[in-house]
Amino acid sequence: MNHDTICALATANGIGAIGIIRISGDDAIPVSAKIFDGKNLEKAQSHTVHYGFIKDGDEVIDEVMISVFKAPKTFTAEDSVEISFHGSPHIAKKILEVLIKNGARMAKAGEFTMRAFMNGRIDLSQAESIADLIASENEASRKVALNQLKGGITNEISFLRTDLLNFVSLIELELDFAEEDVEFADRTALNQLLDKIEAKLNSLIESFQYGNAIKNGTAVAIIGKPNAGKSTLLNALLKEERAIVSNIAGTTRDTIEEILHIKGHAFRLIDTAGLRETADENEAIGVKKAKEKVENANILVYLADAATENFSEDIEMIKSLQRDDLKLIICATKIDEVSPAQYELVENIFRREISQDFDFITISAVENQNMQDLKDELSSYVEQLKSEESNVVITNQRHFEALGKSLDAVNKVKEAITFQISTELLAYELRNALEHLGEISGEVTNDEVLGNIFSKFCIGK
Ligand code: GDP
Repeated sequence: MNHDTICALATANGIGAIGIIRISGDDAIPVSAKIFDGKNLEKAQSHTVHYGFIKDGDEVIDEVMISVFKAPKTFTAEDSVEISFHGSPHIAKKILEVLIKNGARMAKAGEFTMRAFMNGRIDLSQAESIADLIASENEASRKVALNQLKGGITNEISFLRTDLLNFVSLIELELDFAEEDVEFADRTALNQLLDKIEAKLNSLIESFQYGNAIKNGTAVAIIGKPNAGKSTLLNALLKEERAIVSNIAGTTRDTIEEILHIKGHAFRLIDTAGLRETADENEAIGVKKAKEKVENANILVYLADAATENFSEDIEMIKSLQRDDLKLIICATKIDEVSPAQYELVENIFRREISQDFDFITISAVENQNMQDLKDELSSYVEQLKSEESNVVITNQRHFEALGKSLDAVNKVKEAITFQISTELLAYELRNALEHLGEISGEVTNDEVLGNIFSKFCIGK
């Protein structure tokens, strides 16, 4: 394998107290030693830190600390060096230049982690979780990524996969002895194992909805007639929270979304651009615009002014926005202005007219009444997505797709058994299932099948 020496800035670009440059590869230590004025790094012990100067010929570039890590107990499983320098982007550039002049090359994006994978330090799903961990912006996504880094998803399926591998080996053996018409693999036991795998895959696939909520946040649309109290509510919700305005490129257009954190989960408030300031009272929100907003939402918070008399427009609007996979929260606003009897009446009207199950909340954003109820309702949506069976949560689209393909493949194997199709075809379907399962951790399946046959059966061929 090619272990040429790569280098890159490991800390964020920009000014900082210190910056770190990472170097990895066969010549990481000699290349660093050439530019380091201090202890002879080639004689340094692994996992030690040394004080000295980085030099380009006679010119001193910076005063630094250098850490030396010798293979294999390093992140990349290669010899690695880390240079901690005074955190100026200019110094970083100069150090990288002198490293390159002395035999290193700039690393490509993700190359250190890729090497960790290629060198067998981590599997593919762990490599992906490192990216997730770095990108994590809230407690829930940090925890899930960390669990994944510890091998979460791979552990969940790897023992089932090993069992399946044994069956593949047995079926392949049957193929070798095709003329003798023997059956090494017990079809009933194979079926039972397939059921187990299917159940596991299903529970992992189901966890993706929760995983998605963790990773990308839950999309919430706040809709209501002009003056219903939308912007007041939004401001009240975001007041205590750190509001992040992000520009997320949507599929059809760019929308401004604001992020609300409740109990460690992120909620993306869709297209609230116009709501921060009091909306133009003359501009009623059209059904078409409301539909657009709700299209990608998981939750619709519909605000109805409890102090008004007629709710037919609201009912009309809600009916046109309803969807099976959209959680509906109807929120009667301005309850500080009305009596409890009035908002009970409002609830009854909606219960009578709206057939879909919905949560009804009464709030006063101005007097900060029952705001917690609304937050609890939002957070319960995410909580109920959590699976009780498995604490591993799928957050990654690639894993989700690989799991789906594995499930299809497992079902095909089951069909193959039911219809007693030829052993060749059964073997083919099994290998297919194995390959898809292996895609998640990035294992190469065919070699493994062979390896397993040779190591276990020693049939002397
Ligand atoms: P939007 O058009 O839906 O965004 O409505 P606004 O948030 O601009 O509110 C319209 C009017 O209702 C403003 O005068 C608000 O001060 C008032 N309002 C909003 N929420 C409440 C509330 O909880 N109680 C009372 N009394 N007034 C409210």
